[in-house]
Amino acid sequence: MPIDTLARRLPLLLAVAAPFLVCWLFIDAYVLPAHLEPYVLHLNGTWKLQEGDGVGWAEPAYDDSGWGEIRFPGGYSSQGYRASQAWARKRFELPASLRDKPLLLTMGGMRTSRVTLFVNGHEVGRTDESFRGLKGEVDGLEAWRVDSRELLPGSNVLAVRFEWTLPGNDGVLDGRMLLGAQEQLTPYYLRASDIRQFFQNGALALFAFMLLLLGMFMSRKADPSRRALRRSTVFVVASAAFYLGARTGLLPLRQSSPLTFTILSLTVVGIVWAIIEFSQHYCLGHVTRGGKAHRAVCGVFAGAFLAVQVLGPLEGPVVLYRLFALYIFASVLYVSGLTTATLLRRQRSSDAVFAAAIFCMLGAGVVDLLTDLYVFQAPRLFSVSVINLGLCVGVLLIADFIQLSYVNETLSANLARSNAELAVALARAEDAARLKSALLAERLASVGTLATGVAHEINNPMAYVTANLTFLSKQLPELAHCAEGDEAVKEELAELGQVATESLEGARRVNQIVKELRLFARGGGDERLEAVDVRTVARRSLNLALHELEQRARIIQELEEVPRVLGSESQLGQVCLNLLLNAGQAMTKEDTDRNELILRTRRREDGWVMLEVADTGCGIPPEDQRRLFDPFFTTKQTGEGMGMGLSICHGIVKRLGGEIQVESAVGKGSVFRVVLPPHAA
Ligand code: ADP
Repeated sequence: MPIDTLARRLPLLLAVAAPFLVCWLFIDAYVLPAHLEPYVLHLNGTWKLQEGDGVGWAEPAYDDSGWGEIRFPGGYSSQGYRASQAWARKRFELPASLRDKPLLLTMGGMRTSRVTLFVNGHEVGRTDESFRGLKGEVDGLEAWRVDSRELLPGSNVLAVRFEWTLPGNDGVLDGRMLLGAQEQLTPYYLRASDIRQFFQNGALALFAFMLLLLGMFMSRKADPSRRALRRSTVFVVASAAFYLGARTGLLPLRQSSPLTFTILSLTVVGIVWAIIEFSQHYCLGHVTRGGKAHRAVCGVFAGAFLAVQVLGPLEGPVVLYRLFALYIFASVLYVSGLTTATLLRRQRSSDAVFAAAIFCMLGAGVVDLLTDLYVFQAPRLFSVSVINLGLCVGVLLIADFIQLSYVNETLSANLARSNAELAVALARAEDAARLKSALLAERLASVGTLATGVAHEINNPMAYVTANLTFLSKQLPELAHCAEGDEAVKEELAELGQVATESLEGARRVNQIVKELRLFARGGGDERLEAVDVRTVARRSLNLALHELEQRARIIQELEEVPRVLGSESQLGQVCLNLLLNAGQAMTKEDTDRNELILRTRRREDGWVMLEVADTGCGIPPEDQRRLFDPFFTTKQTGEGMGMGLSICHGIVKRLGGEIQVESAVGKGSVFRVVLPPHAA
């Protein structure tokens, strides 16, 4: 994600995460404040455990035979007993500070089991089923008032009866067990419960928010992958609705009924199915063979849950659920791998967001797992807050990701539309340019025809003007010779002879120009190709432009002998002339002394022929260099250039199998190099 976007999003992220952060800072709410210690008796530690339906309970205070042990570590939870019914009990001495005071007995939440508490054989309370949600969990601390009259000054017995409704599943007790003065313990108990409730509700709100966004995202379009995503979304939304319903008590489901368990299991199957589906579509754009296998596995599990529910004993789903839990871990690894690979491959900003979300949630999952596995002996609230923070950030990032996808999609649509419009405009412009260049070519052709005609017309009279002048320039010196003696006539005749010779020189020059003009103007795409000497072409073109160029620069000719090339003299002349005129125009008349124009012919090492025109003129900026050969590209004033010269030259040279190279530096000058293949014959 670009830094500026991230910077803009950070305040939002912080705003949503802030309450969680604050709670996290006050996490010791669950750790008993030091000033309460004198008013509290900790009942954690080793308890005696006996499986069964309470046989021998009649005199629990005196009969210890047959009781096992269970630990309530006091940090987080205690696990590891399996029975459909069991009792745990502990003896304690009531400290003097608690005698004759209203007392409160608090205990962490109990999962997968209903618990009833007894003090010296009298029931003081039981876990409240109405709070049970997913996993049959009793949330938060629970607290019961204890009548101090039931407590003895000496030894007392606190007993807990577990009633397993999911046999085979380990009971989990959040093992903090405190007996304390009601007055001191109540505010602490309320605070801890409130914060915990806040965490849970916050997470739920975020979850609902994400689903809303996800639903919006999915409802936009209906290409095949979207349809699959939409199916997943429906699953997730349905599961979430169920989860929320169970959490908030809207659904009157009993914690441990087999039906609840099956529905919850199916919900988890649905969510896992949807997550992998979503990741695959997002990361790969389609469902792979592995993804299809995953669908099948989810289907089999769902079917098995249903079948066991209808047919079998309750143990079946528990085993299935364990197997499926293993499968969930494998899937999570797969999704993380897929996301990481996509992230590394595509390096798109939305990928980074998506990956961050996945990893935050994964982190939350790992914290939860490690806590369950006793790796962390952190207070329950601590792990809840870490998990919530991870989920919170993950959910926000997913929301962000969905928004990004939204924006992306809108932008892509706009871009596609603009592209289409541009393509139409470009096609129109190209048509116009083609028409213009056809018109120009036609005009150039008629100018050429005109020039050929004029040259032809001049050629005939020039033939006899030249012949006569040749005759005169020969005869007049002879006549002067005959007029020996008459110095005045002799001088007159000699002068006339001189005039005739000069006129003859002029006439020859005119003949030369006419010849070159005819050669030059003969051009056209269908010109007959012949072996051409590039040196001659260079000389002729220079002659034509000499007058113009001499006013601007010193002209240097480095015309090495080169192999002939297959081409048309007139067309190559046109190329060379254009390069020369351009070079001339690039140099100002003010700097004639410093300006240099080099006309060069060379043979390249591989035998190709090079014709170079180098100038010390204004040079061409890099952005213009790319467009030099575009038709109508010109930087000259209207009337000075049409921008067709280089485009036509490029066409001619391309047709002959060669190319034009340009090197230029602004303020230093340019070199235009025509490279042509040598004529094979
Ligand atoms: P025209 O000369 O009619 O502008 P050309 O196609 O011959 O058309 O040239 C296109 C543009 O290329 C010119 O307008 C000029 O900006 C640039 N150009 C060509 N040759 C040179 C050069 N030797 N030095 C600087 N700029 C040049």
